[in-house]
Amino acid sequence: MNYSEGQPAELEVLVIGAGQAGLAAAFHLRRTGYVPDRDFVVLDHSPRPGGAWQFRWPTLTYGKVHGMHALPGLELTGGDPDRPASEVIGGYFAGYERTFGLRVHRPVSVLAVREGPDHGDGGGDGRLLVETSEGRYAPRAVINATGTWDRPFWPRFAGQETFGGRQLHTAQYDGPEAFRGARVVVVGGGTSAVQQLLEIAPVAAATTWVTRRPPVFREGPFGEAEGRAAVALVEERVRQGLPPRSVVSVTGLPMTEAVRRGRESGVLARLPLFERITPTGVVWPDGSSAAADVILYATGFRAAIDHLAPLRLREPGGGIRMAGTRTLRDARVHLVGYGPSASTIGANRAGRAAVREIRRLPAREPAAVG
Ligand SMILES: Cc1cc2nc3c(=O)[nH]c(=O)nc-3n(C[C@H](O)[C@H](O)[C@H](O)COP(=O)(O)OP(=O)(O)OC[C@H]3O[C@@H](n4cnc5c(N)ncnc54)[C@H](O)[C@@H]3O)c2cc1C
Repeated sequence: MNYSEGQPAELEVLVIGAGQAGLAAAFHLRRTGYVPDRDFVVLDHSPRPGGAWQFRWPTLTYGKVHGMHALPGLELTGGDPDRPASEVIGGYFAGYERTFGLRVHRPVSVLAVREGPDHGDGGGDGRLLVETSEGRYAPRAVINATGTWDRPFWPRFAGQETFGGRQLHTAQYDGPEAFRGARVVVVGGGTSAVQQLLEIAPVAAATTWVTRRPPVFREGPFGEAEGRAAVALVEERVRQGLPPRSVVSVTGLPMTEAVRRGRESGVLARLPLFERITPTGVVWPDGSSAAADVILYATGFRAAIDHLAPLRLREPGGGIRMAGTRTLRDARVHLVGYGPSASTIGANRAGRAAVREIRRLPAREPAAVG
């Protein structure tokens, strides 16, 4: 297969991203007879196996990860709960790729996915054209599994650029040491905000937690019925052509022992969003203020799908409407780990569903001759 010069390399399926969703899809492709590097190729632009897990902060130990589902066909056993999740899961993914011979190409960035040049002119075969840092591919279908880690969401506030301290996003968080002795404002109502506040508070001079909506803490187990109900809520937004919401917005925050202690000690006493940022801190609409040396935005991520822009998949509401994993605007494009399938269990199921549908795509018509 020639990846760099001349004609784009033709193949059946291109999988973009080798996180949970991409590897699950690759596993099912392989299992149903697609041959790696001949019928399908998996590309990933990160340096190592592990998907976004490889970048998660070192204090996020495997024991703090809740509800991580193993990839299909190989259990994750004996993971040391005290080791960083990045190492435990990175090692597991590396073994997984080896065990099933998935031959992930890395680091390779997908730059753009567009309509193949021949499409619609009578002689075309309906392939897509994918531009990557290792050359061009012409697949009959794309399974997009690029997650969200590459697109941290930074909210905008008046005066943000005047702040004299440090502003960072969860994606840059490297453990609590950098916050020692600092006055820290943490913005965001998700699990990352809660975990990072609980780590930072013991070493910081002061912490302030602000969220847009009052956080909802969930008591009791999060069973299958609750999971299904949460997924249904995200699905409904996607059906309406709206951007998917975060999982926490529909599941609530788990009430752990550490969270209970944080609420009792006041670390998790939440304030509403401030109105503006000044050189020395933040100010609320009623004029009250908090001094700050650091503002940490634990404000989540958006789908990393800019490379799909040439296909114009978005609806006026900003989302992408889908039937299962298939986009309604282009039956050759599947999104896995997106919206309702943005969890490890959802990614597994979506990988399988995408492969099942792709196998049903009509066989290629022979090109017209003469
Ligand atoms: C801090 C944190 C903790 C979480 N904890 C849990 C948990 O406990 N349980 C759970 O179920 N879920 C958890 N999640 C959600 C979970 O991470 C995801 O649902 C799942 O792991 C995402 O898998 P993915 O394959 O969709 O994406 P990723 O793991 O992000 O993989 C995407 C891959 O695509 C690659 N990529 C992106 N863009 C391109 C491009 N243009 N070209 C080439 N490659 C590209 C990236 O390099 C990456 O390797 C957590 C998320 C976060 C942020």
